[in-house]
Amino acid sequence: MYNLKVVIIGAGIGGLTAGIALRQAGYEVEIYDRVKELRPAGAGISLWSNGVKVLNRLGLGEKMAAIGGLMDRMQYLTLKGDVLNDIDLRPLVEEVGQRPYPVARTDLQQMLLEAYPGEVKLEHKCIAVEQDENSVTAIFENGHRTTGDLLIAADGVRSLLRTYVLGQEVQPKYGHYVNWNGLVPASEDLAAKNSWVIFVGEHKRASMMPVSGDRFYFFFDVPLPKGTVSSPEHYRAELTEHFQGWAQPVQNLIQRLDPYKTNRLEIHDVGPIDRMVRGRVALLGDAAHATCPDLGQGGCQAMEDGLVLTQYLLTTNISMEYALKRYEADRKERTSAVVEKARKRAEMIHGKEPEITQKWYQQLAEEEPADVRGAIAKVILAGPLR
Ligand code: FAD
Repeated sequence: MYNLKVVIIGAGIGGLTAGIALRQAGYEVEIYDRVKELRPAGAGISLWSNGVKVLNRLGLGEKMAAIGGLMDRMQYLTLKGDVLNDIDLRPLVEEVGQRPYPVARTDLQQMLLEAYPGEVKLEHKCIAVEQDENSVTAIFENGHRTTGDLLIAADGVRSLLRTYVLGQEVQPKYGHYVNWNGLVPASEDLAAKNSWVIFVGEHKRASMMPVSGDRFYFFFDVPLPKGTVSSPEHYRAELTEHFQGWAQPVQNLIQRLDPYKTNRLEIHDVGPIDRMVRGRVALLGDAAHATCPDLGQGGCQAMEDGLVLTQYLLTTNISMEYALKRYEADRKERTSAVVEKARKRAEMIHGKEPEITQKWYQQLAEEEPADVRGAIAKVILAGPLR
């Protein structure tokens, strides 16, 4: 397809990646976001090799390597600190052809913003769309309107445009646990600097992984009913209570984190949904398939969406509608599988059925590292760039 103007709503990982891919393909792009200042939600993210390959394809591989942490091992430990499994990730890299990179979200966002050859229009909250057979128009709260050939709704887990595309409201589902996350200076009394460590027990997790700048991205997960509220001055006390009796590195982490730079959120996911496209409007990223962060794939899927959509637009001369149908069929299958797999894993990790969680702890101790690598490789290699 030639000479398209694409309007993107949302400048998160998904909207920005799509914007970069579409501009590189020669399309005209406008990106809008409702916020006054773009600040990523969350401190870090682990980009598995399928996400990194999308960045490689967009020419950002070297920049990604400069901000990514070097993660050579993955270690599961009991809450007391005994090693359950120690997995060398280097054979995985050999198998899939690219390192995974844990990364601070501000670094990733900065890299994507610099790579997007245009300006993101901030303080533009999209409140409606209209379309006919020739064009689509986004309407903003501030009175602005813009018309294009295609509109990408990358407006996140609480997407307004999802309701438009589906013709009904689909509420995010609560994953039944709360996540705290942030960054701390890396130090050997917390974890080895080349390892992703995950302490598990009591249906909870405490974890750290290396990112650039000699820092660890950390997170804690605790199953809690929906609607618990807290504020930064209470985070340390909350975590101390939830992780009482856990190993010394976990206690050190709780003492060392800055509660005022720590995020606390209830985890939600979306879908699988029936469709991703209505006419000239395509859902992308969390708007279509927010995913429990128990596979580390939500952001990677948003990146894959942007690349795949661009490729379908570029490689057909039939029509844009045809490209969108192909995009929908392709991405619905891939992302539905990931959403369901991550939800199942979240339930297993967080004690939905306690005996299954107990079995998982046992399995972690007995499992061959090659099997763990195999399971991760399977998800990675089901992506568009093998
Ligand atoms: P978002 O990043 O939510 O961006 C949506 C944007 O749209 C926002 O900027 C918002 O301001 C804007 N917007 C919303 N509504 C409007 C509107 N009406 N008008 C204009 N703008 C609007 N993924 C991984 O791959 N690996 C991980 O390790 C990982 N860890 C995670 C850990 C946690 C705790 C969580 C919560 C998620 C994690 N994810 C991970 C998932 C990943 O963060 C998301 O999948 C990804 O950020 C989704 O990007 P997005 O662009 O689709 O949405």
